[in-house]
Amino acid sequence: MQTENKQNQKKTRRNQEALPILMLILLSSLLVLAIVIGIYYKVQPNMTASADTKENYAEKNESEEILRVVTKAPTKAPTAIPEPTTTKAPSPTEAPTPTETPSPTVTPTEAVTPSPTPTKAPSPTATPEPTEAEIPSPTATPEPTEAATPTPTATPTPTVAPEPTEVPTPTPVKDFTADPEKPMVAFTFDDGPYTPVTGRILDVLKEYDSHATFFIVGNRISSYTDTLKRIYEEGHQVASHTWSHKNLKELDATGILEQINKTEKKLNQYVPVGSVMLRPPYGATNATVRATVPVPMIHWSVDSLDWQSRNTDAIIEQVLKDVSDGDIILMHDLYDTTAAAVEYLVPELVERGYQLVTVEEMFAVRGQELTAGKVYYQAIPKR
Ligand SMILES: [Zn+2]
Repeated sequence: MQTENKQNQKKTRRNQEALPILMLILLSSLLVLAIVIGIYYKVQPNMTASADTKENYAEKNESEEILRVVTKAPTKAPTAIPEPTTTKAPSPTEAPTPTETPSPTVTPTEAVTPSPTPTKAPSPTATPEPTEAEIPSPTATPEPTEAATPTPTATPTPTVAPEPTEVPTPTPVKDFTADPEKPMVAFTFDDGPYTPVTGRILDVLKEYDSHATFFIVGNRISSYTDTLKRIYEEGHQVASHTWSHKNLKELDATGILEQINKTEKKLNQYVPVGSVMLRPPYGATNATVRATVPVPMIHWSVDSLDWQSRNTDAIIEQVLKDVSDGDIILMHDLYDTTAAAVEYLVPELVERGYQLVTVEEMFAVRGQELTAGKVYYQAIPKR
């Protein structure tokens, strides 16, 4: 019995010794539980607050929410990546809402806009003033317009171009290189072109870098177009000797103009010479001719009499005995004897220091103006 009691006492002692340990374990467990719960509530309240905040925003301030959602959308997007399905679902729902919301927003805006419009209504009242203010401006504008109008009026004057289209193209406004301080003469050839003779004359002129003036008979142009073009292209002056070599003193104004205009028109079909100078056949002019002819008339101061002598030496002698600075030399590119005489005279005159130029160039470099309807025999000599 004693042994049993001893054993029981031992058990009791053991139980008494184990009790505090159990209590300690129990308290520790409670403490741990309390900490866990505490942590749970610390985290949970934040989540709850977030949800509430969202709901509040959604319910109370949809407009602001929309703005914020839109603004924050990108920011949330990455965060929502784990719960894309859920997050996006509400988004679409909200999306339509915003769409409608902005509309009303716009409506009020428009409502406001009309207000400003009425505000402008009073403006109209003010508009009359600005209108008046503007009216004076336009009034000032018309003045400049008038100022400008006169200018254009001057422009139409150049419209005289239409005439130029037929006549004026002084295209020959070439680069005249003659030295006005040195002697010069102008060879002139009538009654051509006639290629066998004209060609030889062109050859020698070209060889000595010289130029001449060709008074062409209109009705010959079609037969010698190539030579006409060569005359023009090699820098010589193309002029008129009437259409059919008529004595202009025997024609009235209409007949005179017909002789001139028909020739110019034909010339310009092949070379762009515009209006050209005229040599009246036989040097025949009268008051009617001078009053009618719309271009300068060019006579001569040295007559080679080539048509009469038909002798090369005679032609050469005739020219050399009279030639001097400013002379206009009369010849006809119809005779072989004339061509031969020119082939001698060109180098001879160049040797003597003469510049062989066109009528146009001689008067131009000497500063002597040529007037329509007037007759010229020669350029005023230097000295
Ligand atoms: Zn003639």
